[in-house]
Amino acid sequence: LGGSLQDALKKLVKSGRIDEHTVNEVVKDIQRAMLQADVNVKLVMTMSNHIKERAMKEDVPSGMNPREHVIRIVYQELINIIGKGTDIPLKPQKIMMIGLQGSGKTTTTSKLARYFQRKGLRPAVICADTFRPGAYQQLKTLCGKLNVTFYGEEGNPDAVGIVERGLKEVEKYDVIIIDTAGRHSLEKDLIEEMEQIHAIAHPDYKLLVLDGAIGQQASEQARAFNDSIGISGVVISKLDGTAKGGGAISAVSETNSSIAFIGVGETPEDLEKFESDRFISKLLGMGDIQGLIEKAQENLKEEELDMEAMMRGRFTLKDMYKQLETLNKMGPMKQIMQMLPLGGMGVKVPEEAYQVTGEKLTKYRVVMDSMTEEEMLNPRLIGSARIKRISMGSGCGPDDVRELLKYYKTMQNTMKGLRGGKFNMQKMMKKF
Ligand code: GDP
Ligand code: MG
Repeated sequence: LGGSLQDALKKLVKSGRIDEHTVNEVVKDIQRAMLQADVNVKLVMTMSNHIKERAMKEDVPSGMNPREHVIRIVYQELINIIGKGTDIPLKPQKIMMIGLQGSGKTTTTSKLARYFQRKGLRPAVICADTFRPGAYQQLKTLCGKLNVTFYGEEGNPDAVGIVERGLKEVEKYDVIIIDTAGRHSLEKDLIEEMEQIHAIAHPDYKLLVLDGAIGQQASEQARAFNDSIGISGVVISKLDGTAKGGGAISAVSETNSSIAFIGVGETPEDLEKFESDRFISKLLGMGDIQGLIEKAQENLKEEELDMEAMMRGRFTLKDMYKQLETLNKMGPMKQIMQMLPLGGMGVKVPEEAYQVTGEKLTKYRVVMDSMTEEEMLNPRLIGSARIKRISMGSGCGPDDVRELLKYYKTMQNTMKGLRGGKFNMQKMMKKF
């Protein structure tokens, strides 16, 4: 499977340009990989049409070969659906676990307790599963091993009452995790019970636990829970096996939620924060897609970060150099600058801003290497005496140093203009 996908991608590289036949071939292989990972058929079809369209229509970004171009699109489309993940903050809160029986709620409850414990927060757990025999003992034992405070009432069938009393009992704890009962299917009484517990507990987070091996039923489950109490995040369990969690993608897309954690084993330590890149490589069954994605994303990520820093405030020589390097990697400066709606915002970009070539960059680097950290961070310090010193140290002429400083001033003003503008630079840069 992975092999055929890679073969198809190799063909793309050889062909050197995007033609429809090859794109179709790659997309077909990606379809197969996704279907095998249990991604919903309808979703796969919609996605692949979209990927085809984009791959044909969009220009191959500079510095990327055709195969990276297609991979990048596949990756972006998947990211659009599953998102970057839900971040559960490290602060006092109540978390309610939901999901069908056997999905991994109780195990995940203990994993989460351990997770918060390790982060220095005091967790407490309430057992509201009055349905499954042995549920009380299972959770109590797990908590005992972790030294985590546990509240439950063995033999009492009143789950809502247990939650109500439990919350009072453990109210001094930081993170309160409520483990609930599931059923074998989405019966009405299960949903009602969840609604009642929800009304009593007012949880900050409602985490739906989905078995990683679950296929098409994932979205049905997610929808049912989401329609009743709402889902704030998904945990996919049992991803340590052969399961790839494709079903969860449909669930996430269906409910507009995102994945918070993945379960990778049976012990309380086997919980990982969700990482979209890793998840996607595993889903597509290509070990080396990670590298490709990284390469294809590298420019974008750096760009986003640097832009962010620049937009935040001070724009130093150091920022400028990093910026120039990134822009240089991304393609002709002029092209990029022209794609930004600078004119519309009343920012005038001087012609010099466009004219930094690789050669100039090299020279600027040499000059900057002879500057002190202090000078790089505060270029205003650089007067004629320092210019002389830098010029001697770098072996460049004082004019080169002055040119660099002049260029820096121009860029700094441009940045000031950008900061005044209201558009979202990050969104803007994602186009590349
Ligand atoms: P619940 O009914 O939703 O509470 O599910 P449980 O937490 O009792 O888990 C059901 C079974 O799945 C148990 O045997 C767990 O040990 C197992 N399990 C849960 N999470 C994982 C996981 O991430 N990896 C593996 N391998 N097994 C898991
Ligand atoms: Mg359970």
